[in-house]
This record gives sequence, C-alpha cells and structure tokens, in this order.
Amino acid sequence: MSSRVVLLGSKGGPAIRPGGPWPTSSLLQIGGRSIVVDCGLGVTRGVTDAGVPLKALDLIVITHLHSDHVLELGPLIHTAWTAGLAHPVRVFGPTGTRAYWQGFLLAMAFDIDIRIVDEGRPDLRALVEVVEFSEGMVFAENGLTLSALRVDHPPVTDCFALRFDHAEGAVVFSADTAYFPPLADFAKGADILVHEAMLAEGIDRLVARTGNGARLKEHLLASHSFAEQAGAVATAAGVGRLVLHHLIPADDPEISEADWIAATRKSWAGALTIAADGLVVKITDDSSA
Ligand SMILES: [Zn+2]
Ligand SMILES: [Zn+2]
Repeated sequence: MSSRVVLLGSKGGPAIRPGGPWPTSSLLQIGGRSIVVDCGLGVTRGVTDAGVPLKALDLIVITHLHSDHVLELGPLIHTAWTAGLAHPVRVFGPTGTRAYWQGFLLAMAFDIDIRIVDEGRPDLRALVEVVEFSEGMVFAENGLTLSALRVDHPPVTDCFALRFDHAEGAVVFSADTAYFPPLADFAKGADILVHEAMLAEGIDRLVARTGNGARLKEHLLASHSFAEQAGAVATAAGVGRLVLHHLIPADDPEISEADWIAATRKSWAGALTIAADGLVVKITDDSSA
C-alpha cells in the first residue's frame, strides 16, 4: 500500500446541500496503517469508498469537537462493529471526547446490548479506548509519531493541528484555525500540509444564504484562514505540497477550482491541491501539480 492522504469530506461547516460535498474528514494511510482524521458527517461512507474495510479501523484522531469534525465518530465505530470489528480501537481527541463517546454509548445502549445477546458480538464498550490529548507529543509507536499544536480557533480553545511523522513521509493537518504563523514551524519540511481555507469572494454570498448573517461572518473571520494565508504558512514551512481542505464556501457554483488556485498563488508557488471528496493525494509523489 503506498502512503497517501484521502480527503473524504472537504467542506467546512456542518451544513449539507443537494449533491454537495461532505463535512470534514480525512484518511491517512502511512506505514501500513489507516488513520481517520476527524469524523464529520459522511466519514463512514468515505472510509468505505476509499477501500478501507471498516473492521480494519484501529486509530482515529479528532482535532476538535465542532460537529463538522466529530458528529459521525460514534456512528463510524458502531458501523465498524456491526461489520465485524473485533479488535481494540483507539480514539485520540481533545478534552470532552470521552464524554461524547460515553454519551453515544448511552444513546445506543439498547442496540448494543441486543446485538451482543442476539449476534454474539464483543461488547463495544470494551473495544474502544479514548485518549484525551493536549499540546505536544501524543504518541509514538512502530516508527509513527503524532504530535499536536494548539491553534487559534476561538471560541474553541482545545483545537489542535496534527503532525504525523514516519519514514514514508510527514503530513500535517492544520485543523480549524485563523491565520496562525506558528503553524509554519510545526509543519516545517513536511511532505504535505493539509490546511483549511476560505475564499473571500464567497463569504458574503454564503452568509446571505444561511440566515445567521452577521454572527456567522464574525465567527468565520475570527476563527478561519483565507487561502492566501494558508499559502503563506506553506511557504514559511517549506512543505512539499499544500492541500486546501475544509473549504468555505465549498459548494458555491460561482466559485471554481481556478479561483482557489488564483488566491493561493499570491503566496504559494509550490505543488497545490484543492480538496474534493474522495480525492487521493500521494505522500511522496510530486509528478502531478
Ligand atoms: Zn470545521
Ligand atoms: Zn471548528
């Protein structure tokens, strides 16, 4: 298996629209492992369509507890369990992840109990270990390390960029963040930087559509990055490829990939990918730009 990132759900924010992209989730395949990063709505379908058997799931990392990153965490694990998952799964997430998981188990207690009795399944409650992390080294095993950096995503304080390092490559996810220059040091020399992005010309139309105009715009500007700013971080970090992800807006017919590229080119001259659901980005392949 070649190492790669699959962008499962590429839009920022929880709304879904007819025929549009799914909220945020990604799959990182490196060192023979398949790691799910964030679990927005659609992640279960995305993992399956990426060719990963659900019962092979073993590692999930959540950047922060906004619903567009965590809403389908429980359903993903539960569906894997009904598909035959029988080994331990670890979930790394910020403070509150354990409470989410306990609440999900409580909500599904009837179904879990009945499948244990009726289908002879192992107890889901015993299969999953939730590890709450903060800034710094999160884990290191079998040549794979994960470290976390607190980013700037008010009013959420526990929101973490993630850096995966392995002999096959280094991949950094920005998580949700306003322009945050320290990310450049954190992402220094990575093969891939997956960075969230907004496009200024689409924000006003998006805000007009959603009916919560002024407050939403205030949140977007305070808590997210423009494509130009993602490009600036990539340039300062000297990464091998920038991937724009968590796109806002993601489904505006007046905005095309060319608009995202034009905005990013103001600050980034290197390899560039604009996310779309299901798009595969090879980690060490620089033949396609
Ligand atoms: Zn988000
Ligand atoms: Zn967020």
